[in-house]
Amino acid sequence: MTLAVAALAVEGVSHSYGPRKALQDVSLTVPQARFTALLGLNGAGKTTLFSLITRLFHTRHGSIRVLGHPVDREPGEALRRLGVVFQARTLDLDLSVRENLLYHAALHGIGGRAARQQAEAALQEVGLAERARDPARRLSGGQMRRVEIARALLHRPRLLVLDEPTVGLDVASRTAIRRHVRGLVRDRGVAVLWATHLLDEVEATDSIVVLHQGRVLAAGEAGCVVAESRAADIHDAFERLTGGATEASETA
Ligand code: ATP
Repeated sequence: MTLAVAALAVEGVSHSYGPRKALQDVSLTVPQARFTALLGLNGAGKTTLFSLITRLFHTRHGSIRVLGHPVDREPGEALRRLGVVFQARTLDLDLSVRENLLYHAALHGIGGRAARQQAEAALQEVGLAERARDPARRLSGGQMRRVEIARALLHRPRLLVLDEPTVGLDVASRTAIRRHVRGLVRDRGVAVLWATHLLDEVEATDSIVVLHQGRVLAAGEAGCVVAESRAADIHDAFERLTGGATEASETA
């Protein structure tokens, strides 16, 4: 597959909860081997979009493709190429760290020695190899996140989507996770969609998508979006685009 095919292509997607429109005609692209930040305040529609990408919800309006595979018509092909870190914690706290990974591997048809080796390698990568036997509940919030990222990568997806992965973590854990995920893009060519309301997590060369009240207001390289908005920086650009909305007070 060539790099010309987007890792993620969302086209004309709308979603409503009863009368409440959560997403309205949303289109965005995550290029292969790039870090793309999905920027939006609480209620922008980020989690709804993730629920559609991961098929928790059925896409009624529009289309979503992962590496060219439509999630509704070719779910197996699409989901095989997709790794997900949800906003809410999803580890089984009673299982050991290793068991959490092996369970995920089994869901993807990886078993036996291959699963054990991949789980160990994945834990080494996130610096938690020595915690493999510990029950997940003994880990800190930042360590749990790192295990969730290791788990999401076990089946070697080409696209990793993360919904507010650093929220609630201390500064050191946030930095470690950001570095690790950016390293995956740089060293392994994984495409990343990183949803956040923390504008400090954006770098000038990142691809960004500004989502506000269910609509995409701007997209492109962060530096270009700032220049096109005639803004001083990303914070200023976000405020201008959203008509004065500011990010939450939590800082990165
Ligand atoms: P947050 O960062 O707070 O999670 P978000 O950007 O992920 O915000 P969503 O959770 O997707 O935004 O919410 C988008 C809109 O849809 C909001 O107006 C929200 O109140 C509404 N919404 C989300 N889930 C539901 C639901 N299950 N039922 C009704 N409305 C919902």
